[in-house]
Amino acid sequence: MPKGRLEGKVALVTGGASGIGEATVRLFAEHGAFVVAADIQDALGHQLAASIPSNSVTYHHCDVTDESQVEETINFTLQKHKTLDILFSNAGTLGPFSGILDLNLHEFDTTMAVNLRGMVATIKHAARTMVENNVRGSIICTASLAASMGGSGPHAYTMSKHALLGLVRSVCSELGAHGIRVNCVSPAAVATPLVCSLFKVKPHQVEDVASSKANLKGVVLKANHVAEAALFLASDESVYISGHNLVVDGGISVVNKIFP
Ligand code: NAD
Repeated sequence: MPKGRLEGKVALVTGGASGIGEATVRLFAEHGAFVVAADIQDALGHQLAASIPSNSVTYHHCDVTDESQVEETINFTLQKHKTLDILFSNAGTLGPFSGILDLNLHEFDTTMAVNLRGMVATIKHAARTMVENNVRGSIICTASLAASMGGSGPHAYTMSKHALLGLVRSVCSELGAHGIRVNCVSPAAVATPLVCSLFKVKPHQVEDVASSKANLKGVVLKANHVAEAALFLASDESVYISGHNLVVDGGISVVNKIFP
């Protein structure tokens, strides 16, 4: 695809220092956007910004669980770039892996604080700015296959991602009245630090398991594939798409096992 699909646009990417966020920061910058990468991993974030030759990426510390930091980060973006066109609300955590019988509710709250409350706060302040400045912006949230499927995974995570789909579907009409689009990307397993550190496995082990489950053989899901989906939703190519959940899963969620 030709470059320049986000020429001159300003984007904020939360969870931008690592994994899917980092890949998206790089891809948005390659396509001509000015990007603020926000995260709590400051060393990684500064390293990322310094590695982009065009100087179009700035790192800014932001813990999305703290609304005042979210608001300050939006203000920082506005001061630096005068506008905000794209929000990729992506910061997330996996949280506890215990079953419901042993679920620690403090850990449950912590997961919800990042994966749901953090997304609410980020959308709220980004959308306010877009409305005030009459920007027909694009908001994309990273949900997950766990947003629409259950199973034996981490319950708090699954609940937070299900709720995120509700959030997007709930606000897309209100924001649509201002010309702002709100969508999700929902990846299957990608070998990022989030997954590898929790399961204490190497990237290729995550990829082997994910590939064995995928309907689509011969392609291994990488962070960059998710970034490409976010790019499409960020760009004007998706101008009539809102309230959508773009699943990036090699067909896992539609595999139908009723036939042997
Ligand atoms: P990652 O660990 O590489 O990146 C997550 C980033 O979020 C990290 O840089 C982390 O520091 C940041 N973060 C965590 N808490 C934060 C907070 N309170 N404030 C700001 N930043 C914070 O993992 P990833 O896999 O790239 O995860 C990105 C998103 O993708 C998450 O929302 C995750 O739930 C989602 N996701 C990942 C997978 C996967 O298999 N990797 C699958 C589906 C969805």
